[in-house]
Amino acid sequence: MARKYEGRAVGIDLGTTYSCVAVWQEQHCRVEIIHNDQGNRTTPSFVAFNQNQRLIGDAAKNQAAANPENTVFDAKRLIGRKFSDPIVQDDILLWPFKVIAGVDDRPMIMVKYKGQEKQLYAEEVSSMVLTKMREIAESYLESNVKNAVVTVPAYFNDSQRKATIDAGAIAGLNVMRVMNEPTAAAVAYGLDKRTNFDGERNIFVFDLGGGTFDVSLLTIKGNVFNVKATAGNTHLGGEDFDNRMVNYFIQEFNRKNKVDINGNPRALRRLRSACERAKRSLSFLVVATIEVDSLFQGIDFSSSINRAKFEEMNMDLFDECMKIVESCVMDAKMDKSKIDDVVLVGGSSRIPKVQQLLQDFFNGKELCKSINPDEAVAYGAAVQAAMLSEDIKNVPNLEPQNNSQLVLHNVPQLVLQDVTPLSLGISALGDIMSVVIPKNTCIPVNKTTSCVTSQDNQTIALIKVYEGERTRASDNNLLGSFILSGIPPAPRGSPFSVVCFDINENGILTVSAKNNASGTSNKITITNHKERLSSEEIKKLIQEAENYHIEDKKFLRKANALNALDEYIYKMRNALKKEDIDTMLSSEEIEKIRSTIVVTTYLVDKNNHVVEIDDLEDLLKELKTSMEHIIAKTI
Ligand code: AMP
Repeated sequence: MARKYEGRAVGIDLGTTYSCVAVWQEQHCRVEIIHNDQGNRTTPSFVAFNQNQRLIGDAAKNQAAANPENTVFDAKRLIGRKFSDPIVQDDILLWPFKVIAGVDDRPMIMVKYKGQEKQLYAEEVSSMVLTKMREIAESYLESNVKNAVVTVPAYFNDSQRKATIDAGAIAGLNVMRVMNEPTAAAVAYGLDKRTNFDGERNIFVFDLGGGTFDVSLLTIKGNVFNVKATAGNTHLGGEDFDNRMVNYFIQEFNRKNKVDINGNPRALRRLRSACERAKRSLSFLVVATIEVDSLFQGIDFSSSINRAKFEEMNMDLFDECMKIVESCVMDAKMDKSKIDDVVLVGGSSRIPKVQQLLQDFFNGKELCKSINPDEAVAYGAAVQAAMLSEDIKNVPNLEPQNNSQLVLHNVPQLVLQDVTPLSLGISALGDIMSVVIPKNTCIPVNKTTSCVTSQDNQTIALIKVYEGERTRASDNNLLGSFILSGIPPAPRGSPFSVVCFDINENGILTVSAKNNASGTSNKITITNHKERLSSEEIKKLIQEAENYHIEDKKFLRKANALNALDEYIYKMRNALKKEDIDTMLSSEEIEKIRSTIVVTTYLVDKNNHVVEIDDLEDLLKELKTSMEHIIAKTI
């Protein structure tokens, strides 16, 4: 029986470009997508820093063009990766913010906050986005939210999953489960359809988002969701299509104006936003226009692009998507005609060419578009969160009500089965990859293998753990290694140990080794410490997150006080503008208003960096007591 977590639990789709939070509402018996303070159902995964404050979500994205070096996005592309990773190196070339190599080759994001240089871990930036999502949920639910199911691309490796859990911890969230995004989407979709059939149903989930591409083939039978195969690319999505368009228009602008806007982050950011908008319009229009006033050196930019051109410039990327689709179907050893539903998830799955190629691949099969592609993942995560928490007494069955609302009924427990995205194994004699858990094995899983000595009388052995599909172990990704000592002397080729691979529900791997021959057990767990934050670092970051929170609140208080003073100045000025003011007030009173306006304006405009919040609030109180009765005479 799964452990139940206390308190409210939400589902969070922590996206590369946008995030979404959803909750199961017991009183309404349905999953609710929670809108943010701007009324939007998805929130940009952006964090920005400036002279005065930190901004998260829409506020951060909206000021990105004016402050590109200190506006951080795409943290999900960095999470759990090393600085020297070629993917990170490629990304850095395109980002307006700076990333440097930190301790253990960990990428550190550099920003300027309140005039000082700050270095941030990717986990820290993701934790800020998660904090925002938690706050969005808390203000809607009017209660604390402690527990969450957070989704990750199916292709995320062990350290990326752990780093996501760490980001949750920094945000003050207990991540009950990390759930694969396509599985979450299939939960929303599969539950929707489940009432309509009794047998087995094969569902292909095509998830093309802003920065990642994931596909999964799932079989739903009764209440069991079984992931048969997953494939994907953690570096393929809407932003790549944007990049192609940005490069196209940079060339056009440079050619027309004989100037080079490369190297001007503000211009590039504004052009990128315009391209993203044009790309979205091309999903329903055949021509889109680009207009950017004063793009560079005061030159306005105006141009257009048609759908055919957009498709041509991205065709190789679309083809790459289709290759991944094909390899996933092949990995599942399933004939594509056996697939019952092809489900579209992720904003970029709205691109007509992508839909057409996918439909062609599945021999003209109608694609399922009934679930809002931006919300399906959070939907499924919310269902899983409710199942794991006390929010829900019985597990839901969802019945279609309309495109974005599903009604829950009480039905028996739902079982979700995920698979390992990559093969896991150890290096055997001759640097051969000895696979212990093959790719696409259902998790949780526990498997053992035995090791033999490579030399006579060997007493010590180095066990190296890899993930990947290459035959030569060292061509794969080394997850960690450990030494097993105390092996009793024996001839070469004698079995000396049983190595156990254990993957839990979150897809996190523990490897232990037992010394059979001597009878003593010598258990070692690989924790990927190099790529993961230590508990001390997490504690420090939690404290920093708290400091950010306090500073944000302080900033808001000061901004409110300054605004209130500003309003009061306006009120006093309006009073003085009254035509018959001389008959309403004495000359002393008029003079008092004038001098108060001067003093207050000076404080608000010139000195707001040095004036304490308490002083501003006191001044406001004082104005209200000393001026209110005078102003009242003018109304
Ligand atoms: P997601 O990560 O699922 O939130 O997807 C975000 C990506 O979807 C961004 O790159 C958006 O530009 C892209 N997107 C959203 N709507 C559309 C659309 N109508 N046509 C093409 N791309 C879109």
